[in-house]
Amino acid sequence: MPLHRTRHDQLSALLASAIAILVALPPLSAPAQSKEIPRARYTDPAEESRLRFTPLNLSNGSKLTVISPTKWSDVTKQILKTLNDTHKEFTQLFAEIPAFSTSVRLMEETTFFELTGAPAWTNAMFFRGQIIIPLSSKKEIDLDNLIRSVKHEYTHAIMSSLSGGRLPGWLDEGIAQWFEGSESPGLRDALREWLKDHEPISLSLLQGGFTKLNTEMVPAAYAQSLLATKALAEKFGFPAIGRFLILLREGVDKQSAFLTAFDMTQEAYEKELGKALTTWGPSEEPVRKP
Ligand SMILES: [Zn+2]
Repeated sequence: MPLHRTRHDQLSALLASAIAILVALPPLSAPAQSKEIPRARYTDPAEESRLRFTPLNLSNGSKLTVISPTKWSDVTKQILKTLNDTHKEFTQLFAEIPAFSTSVRLMEETTFFELTGAPAWTNAMFFRGQIIIPLSSKKEIDLDNLIRSVKHEYTHAIMSSLSGGRLPGWLDEGIAQWFEGSESPGLRDALREWLKDHEPISLSLLQGGFTKLNTEMVPAAYAQSLLATKALAEKFGFPAIGRFLILLREGVDKQSAFLTAFDMTQEAYEKELGKALTTWGPSEEPVRKP
């Protein structure tokens, strides 16, 4: 299980996140909800009676709730701290985050897989507006990876609010990976492997979620997203990224918003990036977060 993954397993966990997004994306009207498949419940009734709802009100008016079986209340405290810290970090970066509501739900993994139909190695997903994290009562909780997943998913929630849900997929996944913690080992290897036989994946293919991608290209797509995001921040700074997000939120089309915010077309940026990809070696120092 990814919750107990070693560092070497993180790449497969990365793949799992991608699949999780794929599973998470269909809205209520998706075929998965058709009558052939029984509608999954959020909780089993026995578990529901022991759930604790812990609200967290944030400075910008956002409302978060951590929903967890009482047996995991210690973990809940850590999650609340993570959510608070992550929120502060992004408030400092982008000044104003429009208010939004979401919840983080810790769920017994058997219920989780029954509900979502997610692959067995999924370690978190955003499902019907809720961040759901599977845990097992039978295993020791890997707190580091749990916190990492919470940061990653919560970053998606913040970025969605900042961009009015219009953020390009590569930037969305790039920022979520960057802010979840240290770079996943194996990420650069995955990209190098991909580039041996393929062209870089075009950013236009990474505009939405990564759902349309072949499974084999997903790790490289994540790696490229992280590189493209770090390079963007290094070249233009976070204030420019903030301007891009506001333009998207205001409904400006992606191409014009990119050009206005960065004074460069996305195509031109992509061309520059193509050269950087080939030199993204294992020894290179990661770009520092501001
Ligand atoms: Zn993600």
